[in-house]
Amino acid sequence: MKHIIILGDGMADLPVERLGGKTLLQYAHKPMMDQLAREGRCGRLITVPEGFPPGSEVANTAILGYDLNKVYEGRGPLEAASIGYKMANDDFAIRCNIITLADGKIITHNGGNLETDDADVLIKYLNENLAKPINEREGCERVKFITGIQYRHLLVIKGGSKHIVCAPPHDHPNEAWRELLVKAEENAPVEVGRLSAQQTADLINEMILKSQELLAKHPFNQERSKRGERQANSIWPWSGGYRPSMEPLQQQYPAIKSGTVISAVDLIRGIGHYAGLKIVEVEGATGLADTNYEGKAQAAIEALENDDFVFVHVEASDEAGHDGDLELKLKTIEYLDQRLIAPIYYKVESWNEPVCIAVLPDHLTPVEQRIHVGQPVPFLIWYRGIKADDVQQYDEVSCVSGSFGLLKLNEFMQTLMSV
Ligand SMILES: [Zn+2]
Repeated sequence: MKHIIILGDGMADLPVERLGGKTLLQYAHKPMMDQLAREGRCGRLITVPEGFPPGSEVANTAILGYDLNKVYEGRGPLEAASIGYKMANDDFAIRCNIITLADGKIITHNGGNLETDDADVLIKYLNENLAKPINEREGCERVKFITGIQYRHLLVIKGGSKHIVCAPPHDHPNEAWRELLVKAEENAPVEVGRLSAQQTADLINEMILKSQELLAKHPFNQERSKRGERQANSIWPWSGGYRPSMEPLQQQYPAIKSGTVISAVDLIRGIGHYAGLKIVEVEGATGLADTNYEGKAQAAIEALENDDFVFVHVEASDEAGHDGDLELKLKTIEYLDQRLIAPIYYKVESWNEPVCIAVLPDHLTPVEQRIHVGQPVPFLIWYRGIKADDVQQYDEVSCVSGSFGLLKLNEFMQTLMSV
């Protein structure tokens, strides 16, 4: 049996008064998901382990069966994998935003909507004028900046310590940035072959200050100033870690010989990479409601022809939830149903080798709260010949009486791979 997980990011919701107290999954027209729920079996899953925030990277890692306490290393290492940077064992990789500061405060976390091409110029400039002098001073290749997407880049510090406290810039708009500089964790461990936490914090803070001098005089920012626009005038590193010690899925589940991840989101691709999955690019996959659903369905079908395991992640419903856009979020559920799940189902239902389809979200992104909520999510599992339970529809309420009951964390993957 082959397996495909189809994940609608943030798709689950809470009862909404405007919908007569129904959730969006209860209200939406989604005949395909309902058919799979009716013919298959359902349950609910706890996707966020205790002590972790309900972030997509946390929930998706848990859904793939990994113990977050053992493998979670923050965003930096995941984004490194997504942009194709292979981390060495002594690397410390940390997300490096280029942000806007003014009057001693953080104005935006996104450098005034920085675009990738412009950011690439600034990143090269920082490598030449900031990284190179530090590397020469240290007598080794200590630091490098790597271009990512828009304002989201990567800083790699060879031998850096992850035991530092950083402030995510999007959580601190209009706050004084000096107070938010990097600090060493209290009682940080000493790690052989690495800088101490304090040395790492000092090095990053030195780079933040120096980047401000350098970026302020760069022609890109000078031009922006003249036009009265926001400057992209400081680096801001946060969420770093070491190379995750994730065992590829192939080593844990004999049924998986090769697998593929399909997602527009770099964090999800990064998780897939460390899980031993191939990353497939789909043209027009945007992470929004205008994404190329048909293209993703086609890519998933092609991957299933060769591989045993496919993980398709669709971001659109999460973004609609963050925007608080009820109509759009309903549409993303209906698009997922009709433009992605249905074409995959109708293609694979008659294959000689049976395909098991699982559908679930990673967490709730309720349209009225507009933030992630880490409650149990509903899931369905279908394959040809499965003995159905009594659940007639796929939604948060119906799945409570599903025959899988309430699973937690890696129990989902174990259950899925045992059918
Ligand atoms: Zn998510």
